[in-house]
Amino acid sequence: MSEKPDHIDLFYINYISRQIRIGDLLLGGSNPVRIQSMTNTPTSDVPATVNQIRQLASAGCDIVRVAVQNMKEAEALPLIKKELKKSHIYIPLVADVHFNPEIAEIAAQYVEKVRINPGNYVDRFWQKTDYSEKDNIFALEKISERLKPLLKICKQEGAAIRVGVNHGSLSERILVRYGNTPEGMVESAMEFIRICRDEGFDNLTLSLKASDVLTMIEANRLLVMRMMASGYDYPIHLGVTEAGSGEDARLKSMAGIGSLLASGIGDTVRVSLTEDPLNEIPVAKELVKHFGRNKDAVTDTISHTTVYQVETEEPLKAITGQKFLVITSCLSQHAELYFDPVHNRLINENLNLIIHPVKQFPVPGNSIIKLSYPSLSFSELMMRATVDFTLLVGHLKSGGIWIDNGKNGNTGEMAAISLKILQALGKRFTGAVYVACPSCGRSQFDVIEKLKKVKTVTSHLKGLKIAVMGCVVNGIGEMSDADYGFVGAGQGKVNIYRAGKLVVKNIPEKEAVNELVSLIKKSNDWKA
Ligand code: SF4
Repeated sequence: MSEKPDHIDLFYINYISRQIRIGDLLLGGSNPVRIQSMTNTPTSDVPATVNQIRQLASAGCDIVRVAVQNMKEAEALPLIKKELKKSHIYIPLVADVHFNPEIAEIAAQYVEKVRINPGNYVDRFWQKTDYSEKDNIFALEKISERLKPLLKICKQEGAAIRVGVNHGSLSERILVRYGNTPEGMVESAMEFIRICRDEGFDNLTLSLKASDVLTMIEANRLLVMRMMASGYDYPIHLGVTEAGSGEDARLKSMAGIGSLLASGIGDTVRVSLTEDPLNEIPVAKELVKHFGRNKDAVTDTISHTTVYQVETEEPLKAITGQKFLVITSCLSQHAELYFDPVHNRLINENLNLIIHPVKQFPVPGNSIIKLSYPSLSFSELMMRATVDFTLLVGHLKSGGIWIDNGKNGNTGEMAAISLKILQALGKRFTGAVYVACPSCGRSQFDVIEKLKKVKTVTSHLKGLKIAVMGCVVNGIGEMSDADYGFVGAGQGKVNIYRAGKLVVKNIPEKEAVNELVSLIKKSNDWKA
């Protein structure tokens, strides 16, 4: 008898977005999923910014965003366009604007798209703890009044707008009314969509980003369902924000972006890395190649999956000390349990657990998910297992991961990949967790270099969450649940936060890593 389940219920939605125009590029509808990135040069440094855009364009990037924070940077936009034109580069540019509607209105005259953030577009922090319906209507009227001139200019110039909501920078009004939740993120976007529609503006795209993968997935699914219920069909931009660097960050993006693409959501993607922006492009290309506009992706996941339930009344954690276990197909020092095919059990020197194949999935808990692949290469295995496990495990509070890669299946390697996937999803921690912005023209210090240093000295601190952020735009919100935050405070200056409270102010960036370490030690969070 086959051990395959008869039915696995995975999220898939047939969301067909409308086609919009960003300069000469068409986005949404049946167009390919577009790849984007963002420069991390000061935008007013025209040669450096042009050079980075040129490199991104030749690496296969379809759209490039630049930070525009003041008049000097807005005025650099036509110069950047002119230089690019000289080299026959016509890649659409997006001006990333926070806090400043006037700058957005100027930028819209020069570039193909403007990104605005509803969390800081007019909706200010009034330090209120309660917003009545009347307050809400008043605030929305103010936003509408302030947004109309931008919509008018974008219509005249043919520019598009991205309404880019970030979990880390929701407005106070949204936070008070909905909390820092996927619902709050969705409502924040819906408010702006309604205003745009009232003004007859439809050249619109949306993004809901979070550094927590499961929050980002939930928010995007909810947004699409709310839009479909309202008869809206705007293209979706996907990204896991502040994902950090290295393998951890790639896994988070694979989990968030890959699983949403596989679920039928996503028209453009940005893999956010605290590295050279060029490194983002190959990761995005792989995700788009495998999961973009691929109606069979979810069926493929199901075909790789076997689900077992552990025969025990008790939660796995009570028996094993872990909410999520790592299982391998044969004896391995790296896994908690390995499979004994003779007795159909999971065993180790202390445990002997009976497992049953499950016929219907999802099941409530204690589910072991086995992903079987036909000897994939290491990099493909990493991507597929991450996306497949994310699609299957999001709602599970406990269970196990078991990866089998046929004859390429070195058990140590399978166990190591499993642990990394669990860490990316926040299900189990084997090292420190980093939330780090990719850096951009707003960075107040060298985020890439500082993150490297912070990682070198803290990576062993299991489960400790450390945020490294170039500035306060998303800095404060995204690190609200971080144990420590390291945030750009002024040129070459850093503020250090502990549990959301500012504890060290304006320290020179050269001293900041040592200061962070001594604070962690003083607070008894340091383990040798
Ligand atoms: Fe730029 Fe980082 Fe600030 Fe975001 S948090 S605006 S990426 S410097």
